[in-house]
Amino acid sequence: MERKTLFADVIVPLALPRLFTYRVPQILAPFIQPLQRVVVPFGKKKKYTAIVHHLHEKPPQGYEARYIEQLLEEEPGISPQQLQFWEWMASYYLCHLGEVMQAALPAGLKLSSETVIRAVTTLEETDTTALSDRELLILEALEKVKELSIKDVEHIAGIKTVYPIIRSMIQKRLIAAEDELKDLFRHRTITLVHLHTDFQGEDALHGLLNQLKRAPKQQELILAFLSMNPGKTHDFPAMKRKELLAKTGQTPATVMQLVKKGIFVLEDVPVSRLSGQADDEAFIKLSPAQEEALSQIQESFAEGRPALLHGLTGSGKTEIYIQLIEEQIQKGKQVLYMLPEIALTAQIINRLRVHFGRKVQVYHSRFSENERVEVWNAVANADPDAGMIVLGARSSVFLPFRNLGLILVDEEHESSFKQNEPAPRYHGRDAAIMLANQFKADICLGSATPSFESYHNARQGKYKLVKLDERFGGSVLPDVFINDLREDTKRRRMNGIFSPALVQEMTDTLQKKRQVILFQNRRGFAPMIECNNCHWVPHCVQCDISLTYHKAIHQLRCHYCGYSMNVPSSCAECASTDLRMKGFGTEKIEEELSVILPEASSARMDLDTTRSKYAYHKLIEDFEQHRIQVLIGTQMVTKGLDFSLVDLVAVLSADSMLNYPDFRAFERSFQLFSQVAGRAGRREIPGRVLIQTWKPEHPVLKFVQAHDYEGFYEQEIEERKRFMYPPFCRLIHITLKHEATDPLDQGADLLAGFLRKTFQGRILGPEYPPVARVRNLFQKRILMKIEPEVSLKQVKSELLRQIDLFFQEFPLKNFRVILDVDPAN
Ligand code: ADP
Ligand code: ZN
Ligand code: ZN
Repeated sequence: MERKTLFADVIVPLALPRLFTYRVPQILAPFIQPLQRVVVPFGKKKKYTAIVHHLHEKPPQGYEARYIEQLLEEEPGISPQQLQFWEWMASYYLCHLGEVMQAALPAGLKLSSETVIRAVTTLEETDTTALSDRELLILEALEKVKELSIKDVEHIAGIKTVYPIIRSMIQKRLIAAEDELKDLFRHRTITLVHLHTDFQGEDALHGLLNQLKRAPKQQELILAFLSMNPGKTHDFPAMKRKELLAKTGQTPATVMQLVKKGIFVLEDVPVSRLSGQADDEAFIKLSPAQEEALSQIQESFAEGRPALLHGLTGSGKTEIYIQLIEEQIQKGKQVLYMLPEIALTAQIINRLRVHFGRKVQVYHSRFSENERVEVWNAVANADPDAGMIVLGARSSVFLPFRNLGLILVDEEHESSFKQNEPAPRYHGRDAAIMLANQFKADICLGSATPSFESYHNARQGKYKLVKLDERFGGSVLPDVFINDLREDTKRRRMNGIFSPALVQEMTDTLQKKRQVILFQNRRGFAPMIECNNCHWVPHCVQCDISLTYHKAIHQLRCHYCGYSMNVPSSCAECASTDLRMKGFGTEKIEEELSVILPEASSARMDLDTTRSKYAYHKLIEDFEQHRIQVLIGTQMVTKGLDFSLVDLVAVLSADSMLNYPDFRAFERSFQLFSQVAGRAGRREIPGRVLIQTWKPEHPVLKFVQAHDYEGFYEQEIEERKRFMYPPFCRLIHITLKHEATDPLDQGADLLAGFLRKTFQGRILGPEYPPVARVRNLFQKRILMKIEPEVSLKQVKSELLRQIDLFFQEFPLKNFRVILDVDPAN
């Protein structure tokens, strides 16, 4: 019989427009299946993990196919549903399948020749008897050099097929792959001590203490362990090793002796996973208003419609979600609970763990690679203990769900659900709607200030609008006071950036032993430095933006590219030494506060202070436990946090947000101010909100003051309609980038001309955006507005065709065209 040659078209995790064809070696032919992960050579010396898209027998035209090197698993690595979801994403957001793959798979599942690995533990802490010779070799090498490339590993192991070894070592938590290396805090685990069950029970305990008579140190440890649970003889809860050592003054070595004897058993638990064991007593009784909202949501699910829960801040939306999750768990279905940012997970995870224990897992790009692969596998197996409820940011839509029953999208209005860079430039909320659709799962979006898109959909009947318009427990919405800075400035009453009213309010609040949140949408100390003589302002050398002064490091920094430089002592233009700070950021608030209210303990929560994932937890915990009285922060402090003692919230400067040049500026301002206001007075005592502004008569502020979302929506939606902006049309941003302005101008005009031929008035621009140069690349933007009646599919294929034609006529190297569908800014 003639031997057929089998070919595989594979997805490579790169921004390339097509699939690549490889030959399947005869020995792999019986095993290979679509959707398996394989290793393929690529280019001169690279290797990638690729996914088999489909198999066929047609040799490629024009080139000799190379061989697939390895199969990474016997089972498919992704499900057909996932591939379908990826394909939807690539076509909707106009990007390549390889880019979606790159975003979707955690690094541990897509090893490539670029991957580097690092040890997670030391050899000393590892049970080396359980290692294979090769694993041991690799770990020994990592002790010496810290970091190994895949090539190094091949060399050390003496074989070419190292991916399976690496994968299994990742699973055993011995090593970690590339992405994780940035996460400095990945090893923060706590060691728990268990007493082996063989030594439990009254008799066994007596025997044990007798046995240890001649080992007094060990005996002391056992006694200390027992004294934690006086009267108990079995079913001992685990104890933290640290605590045990602190109590007895013993060393870890003594603990290890007991472990060697099989008396103690150690368990390493990530700190983040410790809090909250399932607790049956955490039973919550919903208020009548919550019950009503819950049953309306259930109704909309029964009708097969998404629900939009519009509930005031502090109305108890989370408790409703918990009920909805409970129902799914009863049915044995998986639940995805999406949050815009990790800042929020700290509090929510604790609340969910009280109900669902370790059934709740967190999935986020900031989490370590090992944790991500673990969650991935648990979800793929629908593991009843760990794969049922995932709390995640936008990337969690890529998890390999098996029987997804419900998606919750909390704070659905948040723009951080949208990925701006790199492709796929997808919106987590919209992708979630698609995902729910695929699984025929229920989906509920929730917010106190819904996005205009979602609210419009609800008005149109596409979603069911469910309202919850009282706060839980009868607490009332805070009083909002608009503080006119013009008056205070004219009368020279300002204390630096604080108005006299604000200082008074802060003093009163702190005297009552209550807490304060200060909000300013800028980090750093001062947004710019200016020469008082000639108005020179230091700019980034790579971007068209002024540099922000960071006092703690005494440097000027670019918030676009990270460029930094020392603070100049004199003006670069006129040499004057009279340089002044303009505006202020969170860092400056912190400093001025320490002068005005020196006794108040304060902390800052912004990008600069929360680079590690545990920094959030720590700040939030410190504030919850009142170790901090004043929390100063950017957007991060506005989001969904629930603190019981916050009486006062202040917005230090409302104006820059309101003046931001974007059609969503008012919507964003309303959302932000209302959300930050919502942190105040969430219990018995009514809260106070103070907004400092130069434009007290601004209509947005009036609506914030009246807590009138609907009134605001009614007014603002008219503007959107009049000027044809979303939700009355769809937008596509076409951003062009090049290092020089002349070719950029030329190319942009040419492309816009091409597009106008077909799309006419739907094309606006090209124009330079407010920041026209970033990282040494100039950019220009063409805006495309598409009416809802027009087929988006046709528009997109025509758009791609025109871009192809354009590149044929304008084959300039390094000329980039970036497409952003439904842009967030
Ligand atoms: P939202 O998410 O709508 O801002 P939360 O869910 O955080 O509101 O609820 C506000 C506060 O009220 C929380 O501290 C929450 O624990 C409490 N709460 C809400 N519903 C109930 C309930 N049914 N029983 C007891 N406490 C509740
Ligand atoms: Zn000057
Ligand atoms: Zn820059």
